[in-house]
Amino acid sequence: MESSSTSEPSAAAQNVARVRASAASKETVLITPAMTGTIARTMDEHVVIVGAGPAGLAAAWAIRRAGHDPLVVEQADAVAASWRDRHYHLRLNTHRAFSHQPGARIPRRCGPYPARDDYVAYLQEYSAGMRLRLSARVHRIDRTDEGWVLAPDRGGLTAAHVVIATGSDAEPVLPDWPGLDSFGGTVIHAGQFRNVAEMAGQEHNRRIAGRAAGMTQVMHRVPAARQDKATRGRARPAWR
Ligand SMILES: Cc1cc2nc3c(=O)[nH]c(=O)nc-3n(C[C@H](O)[C@H](O)[C@H](O)COP(=O)(O)OP(=O)(O)OC[C@H]3O[C@@H](n4cnc5c(N)ncnc54)[C@H](O)[C@@H]3O)c2cc1C
Repeated sequence: MESSSTSEPSAAAQNVARVRASAASKETVLITPAMTGTIARTMDEHVVIVGAGPAGLAAAWAIRRAGHDPLVVEQADAVAASWRDRHYHLRLNTHRAFSHQPGARIPRRCGPYPARDDYVAYLQEYSAGMRLRLSARVHRIDRTDEGWVLAPDRGGLTAAHVVIATGSDAEPVLPDWPGLDSFGGTVIHAGQFRNVAEMAGQEHNRRIAGRAAGMTQVMHRVPAARQDKATRGRARPAWR
């Protein structure tokens, strides 16, 4: 019995090769809907977005507007997870008019600097109609000839395109400041701060570390007399 040869590359592989060759040579190539169609048909999804925070949801909105229906994969059991986890007193520190997602203004009733819960509700509503896969952390993404293979918590997933929108401040960083070892109290990162009431009576032995937006609002909540215990980190910007 003769074995059949499969040396002829698939249509999708040829399309990918053409696009890659064009990118390498800086030539302009017309990518037709038929071409993206053949690539997408070999994959589970045309576009997967990892992360359902403001950036991931904004990307999903724009991609939907362009005629695709991306799948948004989120490790938490709801959208806007980082905002749900932030401290109870948090408000946007940018005006409502400059902080909205594309295509949907933040309602006027939320005030100029919306509270955390209002902003979460706004993002929740914004995500209505989007395809979400929640409680699915993506552990790994690998390149293949035709796209990407993602390894989320449950099952595998292939996609022609992947948008990473996992945020820039997921990992709290506590600098190794001199004297930390000999400090007798509790040291927490600003991301762990929840409610000023939890700190009642403990102002004398707590040190809070953090920077930028998180720290500024925490400092407003800690009584002024105790702000010597709060340390604003001066982390070196990533671009230096
Ligand atoms: C305390 C604080 C206050 C801020 N206030 C403002 C403000 O007032 N105005 C402003 O313009 N900006 C503000 N920012 C900055 C920025 O706008 C927000 O941090 C915003 O939430 C960033 O959106 P994002 O979608 O990039 O990331 P995130 O909101 O962090 O969303 C990332 C999402 O990805 C998910 N994720 C992460 N890893 C994985 C994985 N491996 N698999 C699946 N899902 C994953 C996370 O669960 C999360 O839902 C603030 C930041 C902080 C920390």
